[in-house]
Amino acid sequence: MKTIKLIVIAVLALLAALIIGLLAKTFLTPSKQLQVKPVNAIAVDGTAAAARLGAAVRLQTISSAADPEANADAFKALHAHLETSFPKFHAAAKRELIGGYGLLYTLAGTDSAAKPIALLAHQDVVPIAPGTEKDWSQPPFSGVVADGFVWGRGAWDNKSNLMSQLEAIELFLASGAKPNRTIYFFFGHDEEVGGRRGALALAERFKKDGVKLDFVLDEGTLIVEGILKGLDKPAALIGMAEKGYLTLLLQATATPGIHRCRHRPRNKPPSGC
Ligand SMILES: [Zn+2]
Repeated sequence: MKTIKLIVIAVLALLAALIIGLLAKTFLTPSKQLQVKPVNAIAVDGTAAAARLGAAVRLQTISSAADPEANADAFKALHAHLETSFPKFHAAAKRELIGGYGLLYTLAGTDSAAKPIALLAHQDVVPIAPGTEKDWSQPPFSGVVADGFVWGRGAWDNKSNLMSQLEAIELFLASGAKPNRTIYFFFGHDEEVGGRRGALALAERFKKDGVKLDFVLDEGTLIVEGILKGLDKPAALIGMAEKGYLTLLLQATATPGIHRCRHRPRNKPPSGC
């Protein structure tokens, strides 16, 4: 009996020591959260930038796996739109076509010893499923600015990214600044159908030229609000790597926002299906 009592006391003592140790470690470990001073907001003409994005959305740059020349006129029109929208950038950077309509810009940095970086986006968009045009709250390629949004295919994926990069670099160059390191901008034209003509050709080109990048920033995820429980501030979702892929054909028609469950047992709440 005495032995059991001693064992229980020893176990409890160990448990208490463990809890104290964990608590001490928790409170003594400093936060690794970087304290970064917010940058000063710069003046951006949002109305003009939204109009430029809207104009880009109106160009139906739908890529095709089978036909490299599909919608060639739309891609050419987009190239011309970029040229007129960002004159300072086009005067400062070298522009090349990769794999047809992929756009590679090289903006030389002042420090030739600094490793270059690459900013990526894609020009192409996916098609509209035939017959669903009327289901869009705004026509799919309207590029209209309404209710505080730019509407249309590509407004988010991925012309927003492409145009934001160029809006930023145009402002940067207009301020008289020069980049320290060389920046490559690459805007693929077949990302939605695999990227073999654009991204792959560029990777091969960089390999051949011995280009070693400090980092690559590509299409990422979003700044979202209200999707993480307990977080009342906007959260920037950071994609750390590209996943593999799986191709599926899914078809569904329903009123957006309404949950339906066909096989739900009668006595079960909707969450059980
Ligand atoms: Zn995309």
